[in-house]
Amino acid sequence: MRLVMLGPPGAGKGTQARMLQERLGVPQIASGDLLRAAVQDRTQLGIEAKRYMDRGALVPDDLVLKLIEERLRKPDATAGFILDGFPRTREQAEALAAMYKRNGALDRVIALNVPDEEIIKRISGRRTCRNCGAMYHLVFDPPMNQNHCNQCNGELYQREDDSEDTVRMRLQVYAAATRPLLEYYERQGLLVQVDGIGRPEEVSARILKQLGVDALNSAKARTKA
Ligand code: AMP
Repeated sequence: MRLVMLGPPGAGKGTQARMLQERLGVPQIASGDLLRAAVQDRTQLGIEAKRYMDRGALVPDDLVLKLIEERLRKPDATAGFILDGFPRTREQAEALAAMYKRNGALDRVIALNVPDEEIIKRISGRRTCRNCGAMYHLVFDPPMNQNHCNQCNGELYQREDDSEDTVRMRLQVYAAATRPLLEYYERQGLLVQVDGIGRPEEVSARILKQLGVDALNSAKARTKA
């Protein structure tokens, strides 16, 4: 099963991709996580990427593609994946298609729809575990122990690019560079649009319903081929 989660920052792509990962048994691959790991490790790529990430701009395609291609070559991604935050430009979408030319790149592209004002509310309260990446919201999903992760007790932090100004910039970047991908995938018959408002379990149920049995079957058929 090869899926892409599309949607503005804060639409819930990460949360939904993690839920799907357990359900479908294929890894969530988030370009933002790969980039943040490179920044933390202070690799050359990470140092260069940070300049763009801090102001909410897109990291250049060649850098992102290098990380994603490397990640997709790992054995756990051969049975499929759930891409989260990638592709974000037409160039990235075409590069992804080229990587899987032989047997059709994707099974479905899931677009999560959430209005901008809701996104700003969501992101400003968002906290992430430094250790395991679990996500919380100070109002909607608060941690049991303030500032610490329920699962691993890791420290919770606010991402540097989650400030309101940077979020507004990221929303503009989404509208200009990424939203056109909805039409691109619609034309290929891959797009399913899902209402992203509601509790994570409700949104997840909508996604699973939309994916339906046919998508699961086509993935199985490919695994057998
Ligand atoms: P995310 O965690 O997906 O919200 O991504 C955080 C930041 O990483 C974005 O604001 C971009 O600066 C950068 N980034 C993540 N994925 C991509 C991508 N596919 N293309 C370009 N930049 C990206």
